[in-house]
Amino acid sequence: MRAATNNQRVPAALRQGLRRQHAIRQKACALVSCALALSLSAVCSAFAQSFPIKDKPVTILVPFTAGGPTDRLARDMAEALRKPLGVSSIVVENILGAGGVIASQKVARAAPDGHTILIHHIGMATMPALNRNPGFQVDKDFTFLGMIHEVPMSIVARPTMQANDYKQLSAWIGQNKERVNLGNAGVGSASHLCGLLWQAAMKTEIATIPYKGVSMAIADLMGGQIDVLCDQTSNTMAYIESRKVKAYAVTSPKRLSQPGLSQLPTMQELGVKGFQISIWHGAYGPKGLSDATQMKWNNALRTVLSDPAFVKKQQDLGAVMITDKRTEPAEHRKFVLSEINKWGPVIKAAGVYAD
Ligand code: ASP
Repeated sequence: MRAATNNQRVPAALRQGLRRQHAIRQKACALVSCALALSLSAVCSAFAQSFPIKDKPVTILVPFTAGGPTDRLARDMAEALRKPLGVSSIVVENILGAGGVIASQKVARAAPDGHTILIHHIGMATMPALNRNPGFQVDKDFTFLGMIHEVPMSIVARPTMQANDYKQLSAWIGQNKERVNLGNAGVGSASHLCGLLWQAAMKTEIATIPYKGVSMAIADLMGGQIDVLCDQTSNTMAYIESRKVKAYAVTSPKRLSQPGLSQLPTMQELGVKGFQISIWHGAYGPKGLSDATQMKWNNALRTVLSDPAFVKKQQDLGAVMITDKRTEPAEHRKFVLSEINKWGPVIKAAGVYAD
């Protein structure tokens, strides 16, 4: 016997009720899948949201104290970048410690949306040698955005220093090496690196006093609590001009042309061979920035580098703007990797570690 169909066995009223329930279920399903689709598309569009995301702040992290050269550069950049990036404000945050490692870690782990950026100097290339485990790899955990400028270092001393030229200064250090204090902005800072090179050049070891930032070191230099310091001209120039510190030399290959610095001899002129150092600065995002976001930042940086007012302000402090291919991400990355290879052996030979 043929089996009765479902319809034959189910009474008409019940059949109608079931049909209604089925229709309700279908509608509910349609609503749920619609809501799901909507929320999925919201999630997708959040991911696909292009930089800058409306109302989300843009933050530049600086690994050193406010008032120091990296901070000053970041604040000038923050001001000049607003227009080319199309944002109303950019916040500068100083994240101190470990010669830039803490700020770099924070950026390496930030959301890759272009809203958290690091401005760092040569420390980007010295951190890998100075720290056994910085918690990131410079070549893998950052998106390179372009280089900005280079600033030579200057050798300065407390205002009461009796030496009147570099020769006298190095003789005085030689005679007083037990009690000379050389300040720096912390292990891993540019002033630390410069101090290492200087001691190697003088073949003399002197006590170094690490501060949390160079603004604190220079305050103590002016007060006579420390004797000598090697730091960027963008930091020392104003104090040299106002005679709050005594200046002896610059580390650039040629003399500088700025009125307050042009009288200073280069280390080469003084016969101190191989002591040439310029502190370069660049910008970095976390790894995984989209190509569009990386290009937006790079275009904005290069727009700022051709802004006459910005350029003049930096040049007046002794900075040399980078105008070659290193303003582009690929060359910036290549340069930083070559600097890691250059400074690694110098730091290893000096036997210093920050951690
Ligand atoms: N000049 C500092 C240094 O020695 C850092 C800074 O404040 O830019 O690294």
